[in-house]
Amino acid sequence: MNSNDFDIRLINEEKGKGIFATGPFKVGDVILKEKPIVSCQLSWNLDYGYLACDNCLKPLETAEENVHRLTGNKMIFLPHAECCETKTELITQCSECDTKYCSIECQNEAYLRYHKTLCLREKHESHPLVQLNETWKNMHYPPETGTIMLFARMVALVNQANNKDDILSIFSKFCHSNFCTDDNIHQVKCKLMEEKFIGQFNILRQMMQKALNTEFTSHWFTPHGFKNLIALVGTNAQGIGTSAFSRWVKNVSALDLPREERIDVDKLIDRIYDEMEEEVGSFLNNEGTGLYVLQSALNHSCVPNAVVEFPFSNNVLVVRAIRDIQPEEEICISYLDECDLERSRHSRQKTLSLLYMFTCRCDKCMSQVDDPDLTSEKYHY
Ligand SMILES: [Zn+2]
Ligand SMILES: [Zn+2]
Ligand SMILES: [Zn+2]
Repeated sequence: MNSNDFDIRLINEEKGKGIFATGPFKVGDVILKEKPIVSCQLSWNLDYGYLACDNCLKPLETAEENVHRLTGNKMIFLPHAECCETKTELITQCSECDTKYCSIECQNEAYLRYHKTLCLREKHESHPLVQLNETWKNMHYPPETGTIMLFARMVALVNQANNKDDILSIFSKFCHSNFCTDDNIHQVKCKLMEEKFIGQFNILRQMMQKALNTEFTSHWFTPHGFKNLIALVGTNAQGIGTSAFSRWVKNVSALDLPREERIDVDKLIDRIYDEMEEEVGSFLNNEGTGLYVLQSALNHSCVPNAVVEFPFSNNVLVVRAIRDIQPEEEICISYLDECDLERSRHSRQKTLSLLYMFTCRCDKCMSQVDDPDLTSEKYHY
């Protein structure tokens, strides 16, 4: 990465920050690459046995083990074992709580940064952290969009930091503008939690105070501060997905195979995806959520010039150009998924203002400004 190829600028009060190209990018170029300041696997995902490194979300199963679990069919054999990236021989675990990691490096990093605080030395159901997680899970069924354990990790990160002001100032910069008023806070809550549990924030707030030392983060635990914290995570957190099988598929697809074998392999892959869908529906990935300093400064466009990817099968994020970008152009990603992005201007703007609290004025929205305010149906593929 050449750090001279982009910079972060303050656009205006309403829009906040944005990232601008300072040099040209070609389609396919990596614009930036970064590790999250904090990330965490989602609570139900972990409970259902999706095996990932607790620190970096790298899959801990081989591709074949992954297929056996997600299809319920142990008779499937995956050829080309060399295309599986999981190094099971490097897997380690915390000697006190059995939390698993992809490597000793991840285990050490986790312990030094936050795990010392969060280690469940006695894994008892009455442990305040276990209770916090259970309460959260009852408020937030899959499909999950967040986890209270990310918040716990944030508190732990501050508690264990040598320079607490540094880490607190990184978190404080996430809030783009002063959007966290009492009026609009209800909207952010919806994304993180089912509607019927809105109003139960005080329960989570008090449980966190009981489970953790919140001395250094006391401003997060006033009633208003906690709503702001929820809004910060709700509007900035990035979803992370990893899968041992999808990496195997990618690697095997890149092999130069004889025609007959290629046909067989493609048939096998199709069959596996069908069996997985029957067994677990769309829940194929280890899923997590994380906060990224640079990525959070990227604004939305309904005609984005860049996309977020996780090419290393862990929580390291890459922003890649999806068309040529000229110097001085703003780099934008889409906050909407592909289905939502194809919907009418009115529908897109409704979703964006509900989940992210802004009115989109991208080129596409401005060109459709005279369209009638119709809500378009969600496309299903
Ligand atoms: Zn790891
Ligand atoms: Zn532990
Ligand atoms: Zn737009």
